[in-house]
Amino acid sequence: MFQRPQAGWVEVICGPMFSGKSEELIRRVTRSKIARLPVQTFKPSLDDRYAHRAVVSHSALSVEATPVADSAALLRAVGDGTRVVGVDEGQFFDDGLVDVAETLADAGKQVIVAGLDLDYLRRPFEPIPTLCGRAEYVTKMLAVCHRCGGPALYTQRIVKSEELVVLGATDAYEARCRMCYDPSEPEQPSLGLV
Ligand code: ADP
Ligand code: MG
Ligand code: ZN
Repeated sequence: MFQRPQAGWVEVICGPMFSGKSEELIRRVTRSKIARLPVQTFKPSLDDRYAHRAVVSHSALSVEATPVADSAALLRAVGDGTRVVGVDEGQFFDDGLVDVAETLADAGKQVIVAGLDLDYLRRPFEPIPTLCGRAEYVTKMLAVCHRCGGPALYTQRIVKSEELVVLGATDAYEARCRMCYDPSEPEQPSLGLV
């Protein structure tokens, strides 16, 4: 009789900043650890806002994580026996992350990627949108709009910069709802915070 091999799968947790993506990733990998599944968690080495070897949420939850330079380094770092692979800040990886996630899922692993689906100008922030299409499970998180308290799906930059990546938290970005997002805001004079 045909024996179905142990199947892996890909889960994506996406949404704006402050929506609880890291918190949700930490919750899922922590449950796997409680279940004594071999877990490895990764983050891009460029993101060292809070801690070098951990994923840390804005609410100060954390889980141990290995910083990796790119998707190829991530693939190399995953052990054969690992069953659950967590990845935070997926938007800071190269497009190779999509194939790497699928390679790991094809090898029977549960792959959980958290990341921004849109940049601060509401453009698709690859590779997350492509990964959403190639994933079995997608969870879209919403934050609380910093201006009105409504459901926020956008990340508003509140300091002036043309760079795509400006690392920061409350000093540089706000979560905004559909009504409060203002595309012209980054063009306005900066608040003196850079
Ligand atoms: P993300 O990884 O999506 O940026 P985190 O998981 O790091 O988000 O942080 C989520 C936590 O941030 C929330 O549980 C809450 O404690 C805090 N927080 C601060 N500002 C907001 C906001 N505007 N909306 C929702 N949560 C917020
Ligand atoms: Mg996060
Ligand atoms: Zn609002």
